[in-house]
Amino acid sequence: MIIDAHVHLPVVDGCISLQQKKERLLLEMTKNQVSKCIVISDSDITSPIGTVDECVELFKDAENVYVVGGISPFFDYEKQLEKLEGYLEQEMIIGIKLFTGHEMFYLTDNRISEVYDLALRYDVPVLFHSGWANSQYSAVSEVAKVAEEYPELKLVCCHCFYPNICDCQELIRYSNVYFDISSIADDLTILGKVESEIKKLIQMIPTRVLFGSDYAGCNQMHHIELVRRLGLDKRTEEVVFEKNATRLYLLK
Ligand SMILES: [Zn+2]
Repeated sequence: MIIDAHVHLPVVDGCISLQQKKERLLLEMTKNQVSKCIVISDSDITSPIGTVDECVELFKDAENVYVVGGISPFFDYEKQLEKLEGYLEQEMIIGIKLFTGHEMFYLTDNRISEVYDLALRYDVPVLFHSGWANSQYSAVSEVAKVAEEYPELKLVCCHCFYPNICDCQELIRYSNVYFDISSIADDLTILGKVESEIKKLIQMIPTRVLFGSDYAGCNQMHHIELVRRLGLDKRTEEVVFEKNATRLYLLK
């Protein structure tokens, strides 16, 4: 079984409405034999990839699609915190996402402690964007400080500091830090290096690396093929594709 723990709903193949994007996502999952996925909403109060309200509404009848709610200190923060709490209470979302780097705030920003406290209260992971441009906002030192201050908090480092996958190694001593491999198969010209780094990471901490693709901005099948090419033993491959997400997000 494959669980894609990181997808979004940007415009794809002429699908513009959220309903169309939903159908397109479900089609992609069928095509690639992905059984479950986690859709991550935007943090803004209006968004082309869907706000948390829109994503929750869109997938409330889809048993195999879960939602993570985005939040930002820049957009109606206190109200959004309350909103997320309501959805956590009703089990309509399974995690909270911070767009550090897309948005200019640090993981250690004092304001974000409210997000960490909320996630701890409901025992859900906090995901954060890493790598790419403006990577300082969720650099290794930032993650380490949060992981240390909140040892019970589950943190998911999305994109593994791409393209500097080896940075993940500095965090493996924190057992509450997980990594999702979304978007790392994006650039075919550096795929060889990326693959050897990610394989090393999986071999070091097989229970803390999750499959994700960053569909529809990135290609889901390219990410599945990347994992298959690593030549992991069957058990480890299963853990990365499925078991880690099930355990971390407490999927039913
Ligand atoms: Zn993403």
